[in-house]
Amino acid sequence: MCLFCDIIDGKIPSTKVFEDDMILAFKDINPVAPVHIVIVPKTHIDCANGINEENSKYVAHIFEKIPEIAKSQGIESYRIINNCGEDAGQSVMHLHFHLVGGVKLGEKII
Ligand code: 5GP
Ligand code: ZN
Repeated sequence: MCLFCDIIDGKIPSTKVFEDDMILAFKDINPVAPVHIVIVPKTHIDCANGINEENSKYVAHIFEKIPEIAKSQGIESYRIINNCGEDAGQSVMHLHFHLVGGVKLGEKII
């Protein structure tokens, strides 16, 4: 069972902000900023370590669509975050990118 696969399949509701045949973007249930969107590939990849030549097109597509997704949320300055693995704090083991903004973020990464 994978939470984000269930969200992609519509078994768990989410507030979608963008969807096409390859990716889904939805509002984070526990936002850390005024804009906090989670962007996922519509294929299960555990984390960044699972990106390979076959599935990297999903990641490329996410980044191709990020400007449009950000603009739809009224921002053009933002931070993209990916947590990979336990020590990085990854809590859902389906590759995802956080799009965070709508507030002045600090200059430091953490
Ligand atoms: P991670 O910590 O794995 O990088 O990020 C997982 C994110 O998914 C967290 O920011 C968390 O708030 C979000 N999240 C967890 N469960 C749900 C859910 O059921 N719905 C939505 N929309 N977001 C969720
Ligand atoms: Zn999944």
